[in-house]
Amino acid sequence: MDYQLSIPAVLRRTETLFGHKTVVSRRPDRTIVRHTYRDILERVKRLGTALRQLGVRPGDRVATLAWASHQHLEAYYAIPSIGAVLHTLNLRLHHDDLTYIVNDAGDRVLIVDESLLELWDRVRPHVNVEHVIVTSRTSIVGPSVGPSVGPIVGPIVGPSFSSGASAVPGASAVSGASDASAVPGAAGNPLIDYEQLLAASDPAGFVEWEGDEHQAAAMCYTSGTTGRPKGVLYSHRAIVLHSLAQGLRDSLALAEDDTVLPIVPMFHVNAWGLPFTCAMFGSNQVFAGPFMDAKSVLELLASERVTLTGGVPTVWLGVLQELEKNPGAYDLGRLRAIVVGGSAAPPALIRAFKERYGIDFVHAWGMTEMSPLGTLGILPASLRNAPIEEQIRYRSKQGTPLPFVEIRARAEHGIVPWDGQTMGELEVRGPWVASQYYNVPGADERFTGDGWFKTGDIVTIEQSGCIELADRSKDLVKSGGEWISSVALETALMGHPAVAEAAVIAVPHPKWDERPLAVVVLKAEQVATPEELLAFLAPNFAKWWLPDAIEFAFEIPRTSVGKFKKSALREQFRDRYQTS
Ligand code: ADP
Repeated sequence: MDYQLSIPAVLRRTETLFGHKTVVSRRPDRTIVRHTYRDILERVKRLGTALRQLGVRPGDRVATLAWASHQHLEAYYAIPSIGAVLHTLNLRLHHDDLTYIVNDAGDRVLIVDESLLELWDRVRPHVNVEHVIVTSRTSIVGPSVGPSVGPIVGPIVGPSFSSGASAVPGASAVSGASDASAVPGAAGNPLIDYEQLLAASDPAGFVEWEGDEHQAAAMCYTSGTTGRPKGVLYSHRAIVLHSLAQGLRDSLALAEDDTVLPIVPMFHVNAWGLPFTCAMFGSNQVFAGPFMDAKSVLELLASERVTLTGGVPTVWLGVLQELEKNPGAYDLGRLRAIVVGGSAAPPALIRAFKERYGIDFVHAWGMTEMSPLGTLGILPASLRNAPIEEQIRYRSKQGTPLPFVEIRARAEHGIVPWDGQTMGELEVRGPWVASQYYNVPGADERFTGDGWFKTGDIVTIEQSGCIELADRSKDLVKSGGEWISSVALETALMGHPAVAEAAVIAVPHPKWDERPLAVVVLKAEQVATPEELLAFLAPNFAKWWLPDAIEFAFEIPRTSVGKFKKSALREQFRDRYQTS
């Protein structure tokens, strides 16, 4: 049969098989709210119907500017279910970047957290978003919202702001976080209260979209570290196949008995696809709201008996420090795996969680252009009884490709052998890999003539197909024509007992062009000298790989998704190491 792999098909399954499973959300006032999938899907139908009534049509982009919450999840499900495109905006971006992105995407409607209205105020005058729907922190969020359950909203803005409100059943203006936010949206429409909108909408009027699986369900923008951010569309088919692959036993093995807490923000590549995968397999979901600090994360992991969680390494470095400060304070007995990705996880981190808490890290490699998952470091059968050293070494690599993701690496002279030694730029292809950027006319240099995507990541590939990422090409240290992996050096440095964080960058050098510089943050009350740290590295690296200098810092700047921001470090240290 020519069956369409679509988000509505996934949600039909969730509704019929997993209606009793739960979605737990921490609200901005730190209280916990619980829903069943049945409740959530009823609200999804209300939202879908309301969006249609607002004029949203298949293919239209509906943006979200929101923390992790059940309302955000509802948007994840409702928007593609009416054939529109879910566009998650990164709330940590500068308002100029957001303005560029909203205009480039042509977003028609926005769903925004009340706490982010101040940010939105700076974007609003420069974009053409017709309707702005506000999830208010004071709204009553009951398990079943009927028209009789009235939300408590902030002061209602008077009729002078309500031009066009009659077009939207239940819509009324709400005041936002600042005075300025009480003014209408760009198209002159009032702000709409999310709960009122849902309360006034009839779930029975919901009409599921039945379109082509190749149509876009969602979109995200790349970080734009080089040039402007670029839009990437994810088709229904791509998301469904990606979820199916995430569920496999040699993958994340997601199942009905799992409870999943994504620490990765919901604006970072669809929270790595987890909300769709959980819906497919009936896993419970937990959302942390705006509280991503180590203590809050640990509290939720323990209280909700989470079985699988995921986030970038910096999150887990913080969590480890909190665990060490308060041993025994958190019961993580149910946690079977931590998915770590976005940048390389240091072996010392993987080892600490395994040895001290019995928790396995699953190293995931991927990117915005890949929905995002490409490879996973699942321990092969041959290593299950191997010494812990060997296991950690394997888990520190980025692993093997998921089904249908094909990989190859290319150096100057062509495709490199899978020998675990020769470095090359990783190229990928597969059903959830982008084939072009949104709104970028003409051929983009990142796509090869024969249908592969150039990742910009420099890797070695072992005979087994396991990749090890040496660097992003822009972060490689090119010393005297040879490449030095900043990732290898910094992940090794983070194995020193006094080191909390380390990042290695290239600095200019008169003879060698570039040399490595390590920027190190020490743990509280720990001391170490540069000489000690260099001596710690020396046994495992060629002499010419060792950093020329080690600088100590109080913190390493982070990108909007929590990775080390090496571009900022390069800027900071360039002048000091500039030699003419
Ligand atoms: P950003 O550009 O904001 O980092 P992405 O999330 O798309 O946006 O980043 C993808 C990049 O992150 C990859 O190209 C790779 O360089 C890096 N990356 C992702 N996962 C890993 C990993 N497990 N180990 C090392 N690097 C990783």
